[in-house]
Amino acid sequence: MTSSSKKGLIFNIQRFSIHDGPGIRTTVFFKGCSLQCFWCHNPEGRQAHPQIQYFPERCICCGECLAHCPNHAHTVNNDFHLYLRELCKNCGTCTETCYSDALEITGKYMTADDVMEEILRDRMFYETSKGGVTLSGGEPVLQPKFAKEILMRCKEEDLHTAIETCGNYQWQELESALPFVDLVMMDLKLIDPMKHKAACGDSNERILANARRLALTDKPIIFRVPVVPTVNDSIEEISAIIKFVQSLVELRMQHSNGKEKCAEIQLELLPFHRLAADKYRSLGLEYRAKNLEPPSKAKMNELAKIAEIHGVEVIG
Ligand code: SF4
Ligand code: SF4
Repeated sequence: MTSSSKKGLIFNIQRFSIHDGPGIRTTVFFKGCSLQCFWCHNPEGRQAHPQIQYFPERCICCGECLAHCPNHAHTVNNDFHLYLRELCKNCGTCTETCYSDALEITGKYMTADDVMEEILRDRMFYETSKGGVTLSGGEPVLQPKFAKEILMRCKEEDLHTAIETCGNYQWQELESALPFVDLVMMDLKLIDPMKHKAACGDSNERILANARRLALTDKPIIFRVPVVPTVNDSIEEISAIIKFVQSLVELRMQHSNGKEKCAEIQLELLPFHRLAADKYRSLGLEYRAKNLEPPSKAKMNELAKIAEIHGVEVIG
């Protein structure tokens, strides 16, 4: 069995997940991302270090955190608790003393053994549902050695593996893990590089280049598009994404030269939602998407029809 003492920074391990690939899965969320999409549903996954989440509605003003913080980041005055994030070094000491769970730490350094122990608890469910394990984030490929080790260990256990990725990194980082990946789910948000930079904090040139390289492999791909009002819910923006995906389907077919059946390239449209609002508040972050309305079912159907017209298979 492969084993190492390297640690990865993980912010959640979600068991019984049914939205991150086929069947029942365990999804391992890696902390740290190279994009800053303003509507991100997992803001606790962006920074590549542990962070304190503070939920003031749970605080009972007991004062325990004051006594234990080495950096004086907490004060309580007249039954009002103030957490001074600018003084906090994210050491996590206060979270251990807060019995009402008003303070929590997100992000934990784990060994591959720790992660595998969690994963293997549900082997029986993977087998009966044709499920498996998904690495997500944040961005798992930004911790390439650790991600690869988990994937290798899963394949040693004969588990189906998937990776959810934003695609924004050097190709070699993903390429070295690909032999241990059964399914790649890659986000696509916008095709125009300037619009992408405005919405996500970085250009999409590497993402599109990596998507093209991925199309030349034999890996099944699901391109996942978060449909976000004011960003990409127009017919124009979605059509641009669909045409890009269509070009990759054609590229894959040309590359295979009719020798064998090509692995699938599919599209999944995911409606924006506002469930992350509390997480932004707990991290002291502005939630710039707070006034956006989730797209209606009719709107999602309309956009899916455009994909079908272009011969791109839509799932979900
Ligand atoms: S995480 Fe550490 S530094 Fe930050 S408030 Fe808690 S005890 Fe203080
Ligand atoms: S320990 Fe928790 S409940 Fe007590 S004052 Fe601090 S945040 Fe509030």
